[in-house]
Amino acid sequence: MTMNTIGRPTAPDANAGASVSEETFSGSKGLAQAEPLIFERGRTDVTGVDLPAPSGRADRLGGLKRQKSCGLPGLAEPEALRHYVRLSQKNYAIDLGLYPLGSCTMKHNPRLNERVARLPGFADVHPLQPEETVQGALAVMDELAHWLTTLTGMPAVALSPKAGAHGELCGMLAIRAALDARGETKRRRVLVPDSAHGTNPATAVQCGFTVEEIGHTADGRVDLDDLKSKLGDDLAGIMLTNPSTCGLFEREIIQIADLIHEAGGYFYCDGANFNAIMGRVRPGDLGVDAMHINLHKTFSTPHGGGGPGAGPTVFSEALAPYAPLPRVTRGADGALQFIEEDDDAEGAPFGRLCAFHGQMGMFTRALTYMLSHGADGLRQAAEDAVLNANYLLARLRHVMTPAFEGTCMHEALFDDRFLKGTGVETLDFAKAMIDEGYHPMTMYFPLVVHGALLIEPTETESKQGLDRFADTLIDLAEGAKAGDAARFKSAPRFAPMKRLDETQAARKPVLAWRPAGAETAQS
Ligand SMILES: *Cc1c(COP(=O)(O)O)cnc(C)c1O
Repeated sequence: MTMNTIGRPTAPDANAGASVSEETFSGSKGLAQAEPLIFERGRTDVTGVDLPAPSGRADRLGGLKRQKSCGLPGLAEPEALRHYVRLSQKNYAIDLGLYPLGSCTMKHNPRLNERVARLPGFADVHPLQPEETVQGALAVMDELAHWLTTLTGMPAVALSPKAGAHGELCGMLAIRAALDARGETKRRRVLVPDSAHGTNPATAVQCGFTVEEIGHTADGRVDLDDLKSKLGDDLAGIMLTNPSTCGLFEREIIQIADLIHEAGGYFYCDGANFNAIMGRVRPGDLGVDAMHINLHKTFSTPHGGGGPGAGPTVFSEALAPYAPLPRVTRGADGALQFIEEDDDAEGAPFGRLCAFHGQMGMFTRALTYMLSHGADGLRQAAEDAVLNANYLLARLRHVMTPAFEGTCMHEALFDDRFLKGTGVETLDFAKAMIDEGYHPMTMYFPLVVHGALLIEPTETESKQGLDRFADTLIDLAEGAKAGDAARFKSAPRFAPMKRLDETQAARKPVLAWRPAGAETAQS
């Protein structure tokens, strides 16, 4: 071993640690700290604050005073702080690395968005404040509505839906209200392609419709003959995603819209993939009647883990009268105001979707993104998203198997034929990606493809980043084909948790903590 003049080794000892187990006494792996649950770490006799015991107050609990401690874990302030910082470090995030989750558009969230969302006039307002004190916030909503209606070529928008799925609910409730207003209460059947996101059929059923599936052609598009055979005078409409969850543009979309309209139905478009076409295509020109836009996908803003989100829904002339309350409008005196009551609104609003006005923080982030990009920048973001996905498709198509022929839109879909005979399955492949430091792509969705792997790189990844990712996937795919199944079956080797029983976790979730060995949750 080489030493410097004060006897300090200048290089690691090549022989050290050769056969040592990867397990550690503490459970931590290097400086990645093991972290137990807060119930295991906390003590019921400790607290982070030191309050004097209350004195001289009469018990006003009417005899319902708690008889014993409720067992909340107590921690000193530094312990509580470390607990949550350690947990936060176990999260994978777009700020840590590529997040290729297909259909989720996990793009970089520019920090400018965060600066603006935190300005006191936006961050500190209360939804019940008098309107004259929140004119700036109302102007943001009005301006955002202008951008959304301009980009989509649709005349009206409801800003209040709080997620994509909530926006679907908004659109389908408007369709139902329009049908009811026409006296056509028998129109209750909704067509949904077999590649649809699960929220589409779920929303239709929630709104009292029945769902009929339409198949796809060999090139992954909606099967027009199947669609034609399923029209009829009980048709309420269609829920169609474009570009689809196969990452493909539905070329026949105008014909589909015409067929649906001629049959007396409405065209709901799932706009979650708007990132691929914004600035290039206006859905209003394609015959769409209602479409939600996931602000948290297309217009950056952080998301994941179920929130926060915003799913504004745009409407055609035909559905605009049924758009929900509240609406933002400019009064005779020039001031912006909310329309909160049916009597004050034009048309026949179907109701409200939430108590107040929607997700202010998402509105400010999305509008910041729009204004900082400009119309040309948004268009380029869409073009670059498509370019990046096609770059990956081109780099991977010789080792992995693209599900469909030709180029793709914003995401590249592969099936598991390239793994055939290797003993490795899509799930194993995804777990091995975790060992390589990559969050897996969307797996086993869409359902129309066997063992699907859906990769959406987004426009915010550099060519160097995409190349590193592609090189890693190529190495994995070649490893699987070369018979190195062990690398996949034992994966993830370096994650804090190995393979969990995901089915059991979904079917029988344990939502309350219980001490190890106990049958029931702690009382
Ligand atoms: C993300 C997504 C949705 C649902 O949006 P949420 O904001 O998660 O509710 C619906 N459809 C498609 C195609 C999506 O990708």
